[in-house]
Amino acid sequence: MSTRGADAATLTEAIAAGLARDGGLFLPPRPLPRPTGRPVSRSVADVARWVLAPFCADEPLGRELDAICAESFDCDAPTRWLADDLGLLELFHGPTAAFKDFGARFLAACLARIAGPATRTVLVATSGDTGAAVAAAFHGRAGFRVVVLYPDGLVSPRQAQQLGSFGGNVATYRVAGSFDDCQRLVKSAFADAGLRARAGLTSANSISLGRLLPQIAYWAKAALDAEAQGRAPVTFVVPTGNLGNAFACLMAREMGLPIARVVLATNCNHTLTELLATGRYEPRASIATLANAMDVGAPSNAERLLAWWPDVRATSAFLSAHSTHDEDIEVAIRNAHAEHGVVICPHTACGYDAALAARGRRERGPLVIAATAHPAKFESIVQRCIGRAVEPPPALEVMLARPSSSLPLASDAGSLARAIAAGLPGGADRA
Ligand SMILES: *Cc1c(COP(=O)(O)O)cnc(C)c1O
Repeated sequence: MSTRGADAATLTEAIAAGLARDGGLFLPPRPLPRPTGRPVSRSVADVARWVLAPFCADEPLGRELDAICAESFDCDAPTRWLADDLGLLELFHGPTAAFKDFGARFLAACLARIAGPATRTVLVATSGDTGAAVAAAFHGRAGFRVVVLYPDGLVSPRQAQQLGSFGGNVATYRVAGSFDDCQRLVKSAFADAGLRARAGLTSANSISLGRLLPQIAYWAKAALDAEAQGRAPVTFVVPTGNLGNAFACLMAREMGLPIARVVLATNCNHTLTELLATGRYEPRASIATLANAMDVGAPSNAERLLAWWPDVRATSAFLSAHSTHDEDIEVAIRNAHAEHGVVICPHTACGYDAALAARGRRERGPLVIAATAHPAKFESIVQRCIGRAVEPPPALEVMLARPSSSLPLASDAGSLARAIAAGLPGGADRA
């Protein structure tokens, strides 16, 4: 079903389509199906099979679920305990060193198994990490092109390098505008029925159910890991921008996994903090911060949250939010390093700050902060805080050694339509 109630697509159709025909976002109906028994093991792939199987019953994709999970969940997501009641869920062991690898790779594995037009164009707006994860997931896949839009000057140097490092079937554009402008451009392209059909447009943003569902897997794994250690139920602290990752965590909770509460950690783009406090959703322009992948003023998954809880204040028993300013992001990076010897990225730092604030309020029981990206992706900020360089993990190092290039793009729908058309077979060659 869709958040606006007028599209009854199956799961396979919803993953293929990205956005619902009524303009809403796809959302499985509640109550969510509950997995039965226990997973075969607590590897991410086995937990993913177990937790996602109930969504895939009677679906063509269900028969492929084993293979899809084996392909997309072959990296670990360990929880590292900094103290008895404070953990860090490391979600950055994938090829582009951010949690979005999980969702992007699952989506790619699904789309590759769903019949579609001869050429499909995956159009993606990125605030820094999505674009690389999606590009990596589709890079070299026959029948797919990827068009990545990122806000020029608003991603870290290593993120920019990574975004432009793919080549082949990936075209990277740096847009003269903000992330919200990039998202608006993507929406305009999808609203253009002719372009949509000609290019076989498909979405890979966090609004896509094919990215949202797989994110349930590592929340489930982390909750079960904590339970096996006698630490359940845990409260997850989730660095949040578009609310995709945190919504998946809420879905895991709705499925009955041992999750006490969810804390949204935002930077000073505080639309969600305000929403939870006042019940009013007031999207606005985004502000550039040190945690750039969370620079979102109009989080698209707020529509999913409001579809499930129209009076969102009714969630206060299990959902809260905390916003962190840039100065406190730096303080959190320094403190995490000084107190626990751990190096965290600026997004994870928002989580660290929110966890301390939650502890200061009333939060009892174990807190697990999602470490959403590897700190080496944000080298200049992190180095400034801890006084030394951070080594990139091997996969990131390989990517950073490649040549990198992106093309400039004006922030208007016509320019994007021309750029997309130019890359189609028979279209004008890109310079
Ligand atoms: C995308 C991203 C986030 C925010 O995730 P959402 O699903 O958009 O809320 C947080 N941290 C990092 C490192 C990211 O790349």
